[in-house]
Amino acid sequence: MRYIEEFHDPELARRLLDEIRATVTRPWAMMEVCGGQTHSIIRHGIDQLLPEEVELIHGPGCPVCVTPLEMIDKALAIASRRNVVFCSFGDMLRVPGTDRDLFRVKGEGGDVRVVYSPLDALEIARREPDKEVVFFGIGFETTAPANAMTVHEARRLGIGNFSLLVSHVRVPPAVEAIMRAPECRVQAFLAAGHVCSVMGTAEYPELAERHRVPIVVTGFEPLDILEGVRRTVRQLERGEHRVENAYPRAVREAGNPAALRMIEEVFEVTDRAWRGIGTIPDSGWRLSDAFRAYDAEYRFDVGDVRTAESADCRSGEVLQGLIKPHECPSFGTACTPRTPLGATMVSSEGACAAYYLYRRLEVAPVG
Ligand code: SF4
Repeated sequence: MRYIEEFHDPELARRLLDEIRATVTRPWAMMEVCGGQTHSIIRHGIDQLLPEEVELIHGPGCPVCVTPLEMIDKALAIASRRNVVFCSFGDMLRVPGTDRDLFRVKGEGGDVRVVYSPLDALEIARREPDKEVVFFGIGFETTAPANAMTVHEARRLGIGNFSLLVSHVRVPPAVEAIMRAPECRVQAFLAAGHVCSVMGTAEYPELAERHRVPIVVTGFEPLDILEGVRRTVRQLERGEHRVENAYPRAVREAGNPAALRMIEEVFEVTDRAWRGIGTIPDSGWRLSDAFRAYDAEYRFDVGDVRTAESADCRSGEVLQGLIKPHECPSFGTACTPRTPLGATMVSSEGACAAYYLYRRLEVAPVG
């Protein structure tokens, strides 16, 4: 299959690994930002193939994992209401809120539906005008254009019974927060290729310069990741800190202009809480004033939700790359994909789920 199998070629992987081994002379720690990259790294054992000098630190780029508990609890409160159809991608249904998840709400009679696109939710709103239809609009820059376009369509078509519960997050402010943390060990970033395919790379040179870190835009297949690591190691060894695009088949410097226009028209930048990490200034989007009528938080007045995280879950440290998942004492014991204590064990992009899926027989729980 074009664009997949050719990026799994073992001979090319061996050559890239040889080049990395020949280049590296001392220890380096680099963070892959995206949870999709983390899964690819763990699934293909890339971290085990790299020379021991190269450490991959798993970053916070799993959209399900960083959606704040308060927002999950608001989703649960809205989904529990009579006459509401609550629509979401499937992986949000098992994310634990303070005392239950969306599956539980569905089991208790709530009208919770899994959809594959926000436009599916808009179509439900069109077909069922007597219901209030809410779509759970979470995610990074990758999902923001489709959610923005759906709200835009709702207004254009005059569909007033549709709204969006918005919890969008932005990568560059998170990179800034990671670099400012006193305990930060990150010396370089593998930036998420799909985010840059939307946003372009214009936000990164300033970050690379300010923190003197190489930022290499990287894809998701094994050879993409090895090429990202190869370029990153080369920069680190040379003492450089530039932005490089190692994913040119998907990423242009200017990003996707149509998607950027839609985001700009519908959303505005806001501070956003990241689950397990805390509030990061300017790290999110919310609906702008012009589209406020479509904001489920305003429509359903759920501002006073009280939240409580599991005291045993250390996903905040996992998301900041401070510990590896198996260093959490609950990993594989109290916390498994069937009994998740934190979102990082639920999501298909969560680091804890990746370690459980591919590494649990190799790594002994610590503690
Ligand atoms: S293993 Fe479970 S309890 Fe531990 S950090 Fe991951 S999600 Fe939280």
